[in-house]
Amino acid sequence: MNNDNSCPNCGQIDWVQTMPAIAATGMSTVQGSSTYAGVGIGFSGTVVPVIGSGSSTSAQTTALAAATRPAPPPSSVNGPATCGVLLLFATVVMFAIAGAAVSLSTPTEQSASPIGAWLALGGLMALPFALPALAAFLVLTRRFRDNARIARGLPVASALWEAAFYCHRCGVCYWPRSQEGGIAARHPVSPFQFQQIVWNAGGYGFGGQAVT
Ligand SMILES: [Zn+2]
Repeated sequence: MNNDNSCPNCGQIDWVQTMPAIAATGMSTVQGSSTYAGVGIGFSGTVVPVIGSGSSTSAQTTALAAATRPAPPPSSVNGPATCGVLLLFATVVMFAIAGAAVSLSTPTEQSASPIGAWLALGGLMALPFALPALAAFLVLTRRFRDNARIARGLPVASALWEAAFYCHRCGVCYWPRSQEGGIAARHPVSPFQFQQIVWNAGGYGFGGQAVT
């Protein structure tokens, strides 16, 4: 049977491509996901961390390549790490300033402990930095966990992904031969379903959201 790799929908082979071929043609210009991080000052003077992934890469990825990629792109950890450290530093500085202010305003002969005043003032001043710092480190922890999960599951998902084909005429993905995990041979699925199957096989099917 030379016809093995043909599309199960139209039975043709002329508009058929393997997943690695689609990735090579669709994602060759991708620079990597851009992540921005920084600190913004809100109206009330509060400092808010600004962390996010840039969507600039998506323009360079064809929708098909994005929809059929074997794994979500890894989340950058540099942004939240830098942000968290800077905010933590600002928190410490605020406590230092509060300490200086309290010691200056406390008469030396009055030996009442200024620790309470220092903690109160320092806490008040540091809070706008400490809370975003905590948020940044929470984001960082989650990204580390997600990336580790993707790295663990990628070999299994990639093997499944490499074995699949796509028919440009019908817009369907399929495996010419049956795969582990109960995947039937020559059963057409949409790119979205394909992504769900592959990502779930890798153990990182985050609800199977499409990366546009
Ligand atoms: Zn077809």
